[in-house]
Amino acid sequence: MKGNISFVKGDITLQDTDAIVNAANSSLLGGGGVDGAIHKAAGPALDEECRRIGYCPTGQAVITTGGNLKAKYVIHTVGPIWHGGTRNEPELLASCYRNSLKLAEEKDIKTIAFPSISTGAYGYPIEQAAHIAVKTVSDYLKTSNTIKEVRFVLFSKRDYDVYVEAYKELQ
Ligand code: ADP
Repeated sequence: MKGNISFVKGDITLQDTDAIVNAANSSLLGGGGVDGAIHKAAGPALDEECRRIGYCPTGQAVITTGGNLKAKYVIHTVGPIWHGGTRNEPELLASCYRNSLKLAEEKDIKTIAFPSISTGAYGYPIEQAAHIAVKTVSDYLKTSNTIKEVRFVLFSKRDYDVYVEAYKELQ
């Protein structure tokens, strides 16, 4: 693997990576959770750019500047809502990570931070989501020449432990 994967417990709005990823909703208008925190910290320029883009389907990703954030860019991806696992949720969640990394590569972004997509309001069981997240990112990094660091930023100690464990299981 060329790039590194790291895990921190913390607030994604404070990260100094080139880009941070937002667990957005399809309207891109901002909401609760990590989405609300990112919109608040980035300021009105982010709202305006998101309004212009207008929409993002589940599993896809769009990019804006970072506004007042330390990060130069915000990549907004829309995770699947958990319906029990029968509506293609695993593939859609993997697509979020893959499409975000693809956008990052196109912009020559070298360091990127992800939150735990879909495991808050969208109800995805975190053990399953963490496994998909770390597997998809580590597979992607095997093929990427530009991305140097992918940082998972987990908001609670428990989420952090689940991600670290999922990564250990992968090794
Ligand atoms: P989703 O709708 O995709 O489930 P949420 O924002 O509800 O998104 O939750 C995703 C995860 O982001 C949850 O684990 C939540 O605890 C976490 N989270 C909330 N605020 C922040 C933040 N400032 N930095 C990092 N993670 C956060």
